[in-house]
Amino acid sequence: MTLTTPPSPTATAVPPNTAGVPALGVNVTGLRCRECGEPEELASSHVCSWCFGPLEVAYDEALLASRVSRERIEAGPRSLWRYGDLLPVLSDDPATRIDLGTGFTPLRPAPRLAAHLGLRELWLKDDTRNPSGSFKDRVVTIALSAARALGIETVACASTGNLAGSVSAHAAAAGMPAYVFIPHDLERGKVVGAAVYGANVVAVEGNYDDVNRLCVEVADREGWGFVNVNLRAFYAEGSKSIGYEIAEQLGWQLPDHVVAPLASGAMFTKIDKAFGELRRYGLVDDAQPTPRMSGAQATGCSPIAEAFARESLDVRPQRPDTIARSLAIGNPADGYYALQVARATGGVVGHVPDDEIVAGIQLLARTEGVFAETAGGVTVANLVRFVEQGHVDRDERVVAVISGNGYKTIEAVEAAVGVTHRTTPALDDFLQALGA
Ligand SMILES: *Cc1c(COP(=O)(O)O)cnc(C)c1O
Ligand SMILES: [Zn+2]
Repeated sequence: MTLTTPPSPTATAVPPNTAGVPALGVNVTGLRCRECGEPEELASSHVCSWCFGPLEVAYDEALLASRVSRERIEAGPRSLWRYGDLLPVLSDDPATRIDLGTGFTPLRPAPRLAAHLGLRELWLKDDTRNPSGSFKDRVVTIALSAARALGIETVACASTGNLAGSVSAHAAAAGMPAYVFIPHDLERGKVVGAAVYGANVVAVEGNYDDVNRLCVEVADREGWGFVNVNLRAFYAEGSKSIGYEIAEQLGWQLPDHVVAPLASGAMFTKIDKAFGELRRYGLVDDAQPTPRMSGAQATGCSPIAEAFARESLDVRPQRPDTIARSLAIGNPADGYYALQVARATGGVVGHVPDDEIVAGIQLLARTEGVFAETAGGVTVANLVRFVEQGHVDRDERVVAVISGNGYKTIEAVEAAVGVTHRTTPALDDFLQALGA
């Protein structure tokens, strides 16, 4: 048998892996403006035709209330589709649901890191374990499934790196053509990690905010499904699964405090939304306090932290310059909402310089055996500061969201770590090297 590169994908109906998925039914009624509340038809659109506010998914809330239960969730697959009743399902046809096994990642106790920080109880939400190595698989699973249901053939994204890899992987598995747009100077792991799946990788001479502007124009013209532009309402909902999982994995309890990284701010906002839904639908005890939500940024791209420090909800765009490329969004779409969540829950938003990000990656790896990309270093380094500054209480049950895998950004730590001994294959030489 000879191994040849398969042809680039064309849109064909490839049945996804639906084994174990509970019978999910259409549970959305349309879209709705997040600002003025005006309803909109279900479509690949992202701005309100009345006020230009961002659109969100409107669920059939009576249906959800009658259907959602711990039992139904626990009987579901070991992927984010176990929460399918609470995520947008646009078609009864299970073939529209794309599943690479994303989600239900481990929530691991981190006793050695906790001891180092002086915390009583610390957990890691380990999203390095997703199929393409980052939490973006959650949002892409939902966005591409929506694209399928809406009859969209070609999918695309504006990416800081991880989204490109995730869209490429899921599009390949679904047999959909994909165009992923990235800044031209990304880490090698991010470029190769997208191109290997056969997607069209478009390197744009500019930063992420330039890439995003171009993609808004292309989306209007080509009719492609840009997961984080015209499919953003569906895309953003995928992040709620992190919140559901944390609660289920804590035995249907909410944590006291969550520390998560911020790029656009969408993931952070949606984890908080998930906690609210868990209470509303009786999945956790309604008397439990709302978890505090604290956000982590890199100093070189900290528009949300900067607004928080000014006690303002008005985010001033920045020109990013940080090794945390996956978080380098200078004009964050959900910055305003993320600030509201941090404030309303009693959390904070902080930032750390690049050397602390590298130290954070090493600290996490050395205490807990988890190799995170720069975004994980940002989260850990901010957590260190939050504990020192008294923003995180030593007695709280804390969850740190580790959102991407370190093998994608080895250049960040390459200079800081490496071979510790050198020897010939002779035992004597090794013993000498060991003693030296
Ligand atoms: C995109 C990304 C984030 C932040 O996502 P937003 O929802 O845009 O805030 C965090 N971590 C990693 C690894 C990412 O790729
Ligand atoms: Zn509106």
